[in-house]
Formats: sequence, C-alpha cells, structure tokens
Amino acid sequence: MATLSHIPIGIDKICHHHILILFNIFVLFQKQNNYYFFNLKNLYPHNFVILDIIEINSPLKKQIILTNTKIAESVYVLSFKRDFEFIPGQVIGISNNPAEVPRLYSIASGNKVSEIRILYDIKEGGKLTPWLSGRNAGEFIYYTEVSGNFISEMNENAYWIAAGTGIAPFASMLFSGNFMNKTLIHGGKFLESFYFGNEFKEKLGGNYIRCCTREEGKGVYNGRFTQYLMEKEDLNATNKYYLCGSAEMVVETRDILLAKKIPFNNVIGEIYF
Ligand SMILES: Cc1cc2nc3c(=O)[nH]c(=O)nc-3n(C[C@H](O)[C@H](O)[C@H](O)COP(=O)(O)OP(=O)(O)OC[C@H]3O[C@@H](n4cnc5c(N)ncnc54)[C@H](O)[C@@H]3O)c2cc1C
Repeated sequence: MATLSHIPIGIDKICHHHILILFNIFVLFQKQNNYYFFNLKNLYPHNFVILDIIEINSPLKKQIILTNTKIAESVYVLSFKRDFEFIPGQVIGISNNPAEVPRLYSIASGNKVSEIRILYDIKEGGKLTPWLSGRNAGEFIYYTEVSGNFISEMNENAYWIAAGTGIAPFASMLFSGNFMNKTLIHGGKFLESFYFGNEFKEKLGGNYIRCCTREEGKGVYNGRFTQYLMEKEDLNATNKYYLCGSAEMVVETRDILLAKKIPFNNVIGEIYF
C-alpha cells in the first residue's frame, strides 16, 4: 500500500524502461522519457497500490516476421518464430529499432505452438503501429523477453472481460487450453471486432458474450459491454474478474463490479496504453 505522497518516490526509482501501473490511478503513462498520469475522473486516495511493474530492459532480439495479416479495419495479427517459454497472459516488447523504447503487446497465441502471435491495432500518429502494419513476411522486428502477471489459473471460475484488442491475453489462454469455467464478455464496435470469435464460440459456447455498439448481429448483445454487465444480476462474488483494455475501460468496469459487491481483490486489470 502506498499513499499519494509516495508516488513521486516511485517515479524517482523507476528508470527508462519501467512502466509502473498503479491500482486505482492504474496507469502511469510512459512516452519517451516522460511519465504522466492518466487523468481519471475518480481518484481513490486511500488506496494507491502499485499493482505491477513491467520491466522491459532486456536486450532486444531480432526476428523474421512470418505473417502480418489484416483481420479487420486497422487491426492486424503478426507472427514470428517462438524461441522462448511464456505463461498465457504475459506481454512482450516489440520495436522497429533497438534504440527505441519497445511497445508492449500481449501474446495472443498458445504457449505450445511454434509461433508467437500478437494482435494490434494502428494508433494514428504512433511510432510503431503504422510502421508495423506496412511490414511483410521476411522483414525484421525486434522483441524483448516476456513479462507480466496477468495470469488466469486453469479451471478457476472466472469472467474474462475485454474491449477491442484487449482480447489478446484471453486468446492466448484459450489457445493454451485454459477455457474451463470461464465466461468471456467482449466489447467491440463492429461485428468484425470479435477477433478469434469462431475459436471462442467453439470452446466457450454460451459463455462467449459479444457486445457490439455499432452493428446488430444474431446472438450479439446490442450495446456496450458495460451496459450488459450493469444489467446482469447473477455475477458471482467468489469468481475472479480479469479485465483487459484501455485505462478508461478497466476503471469503469472495475467500478461497476465493485458496485455489484464483487470483492476488490477479485478484480484484476491489465491496461493497454
Ligand atoms: C501491458 C500492455 C499490453 C499491451 N498489449 C497490446 C496489445 O496486445 N495490442 C495492442 O494493439 N496494443 C497493446 N498495448 C498498447 C501498445 O503497447 C502501444 O501503446 C500501442 O500499440 C501504440 O504504439 P505506437 O508506438 O503505435 O504508438 P505511440 O507512439 O506509443 O503513440 C500512441 C498514441 O499516443 C500519442 N502520443 C505519442 N506520444 C505522445 C505524448 N508524448 N503525449 C501525448 N500523446 C502522445 C500518439 O499520437 C498516438 O495516438 C499494450 C500496452 C500495455 C501497457
């Protein structure tokens, strides 16, 4: 536990390649050498806890791109040869240049297959993703060691809640054989936004819930996933709730769950920023 006054001390201690994630503030942004806080509407000064520090200061390795496939508007799946072990839910740093700060990506592939796969969307004005989207098989990227603790245990009763590309760690879990007792709620704008939808449907059946805001589809909840959650009356307080998406998404979803009497410690967030 730390109080607000401890935060500047934390900032002093972290160095160039550290990304500090604070619970309740949740995110300390790192852009180049500058750190800044995400501007949240609600702060909880009684409860600032450092949740995770992802260190990406390992040397970068070079690898040949095997595939880089567009799967939806501005969304791609990139793969390269796997030459390391990882736990589904972990992230990897990717860069186009060893001198540049790598960007983090959840691994979206199973941990037994020969390829590492990431799912990414293009951020306009971004340093990496516009470049990455133009790459072809045979070209090179740089990557770091894996890191991260966003890990959902085999067979535990859990809800997985994702927005957009936040589905990636859950795809890795699914493709690694971890889907028993899991319910997935995925929010997306369009029907094409439900990446790996066929695979999730096949394994999760009725426990795969798609919430779409801009299009209607058969078997798809029409509206935001937050609305779906608010309407849901049978959320089990003993289940774990894993949230993955933007800072706004994780904070908003966390607040809905807390209001529904889900214990604080059963809500685990992974934030993409
Ligand atoms: C744990 C973790 C896991 C992640 N996993 C995924 C994943 O699986 N898939 C995925 O798509 N993304 C993921 N991300 C996000 C990813 O790391 C990148 O942030 C994202 O892809 C954008 O990278 P970029 O280099 O293209 O953009 P950046 O260069 O990082 O820029 C991103 C945006 O910020 C703006 N910006 C840049 N610098 C500044 C500045 N100084 N001040 C204000 N705005 C600025 C840019 O214009 C752009 O709109 C993850 C992030 C984290 C922390």
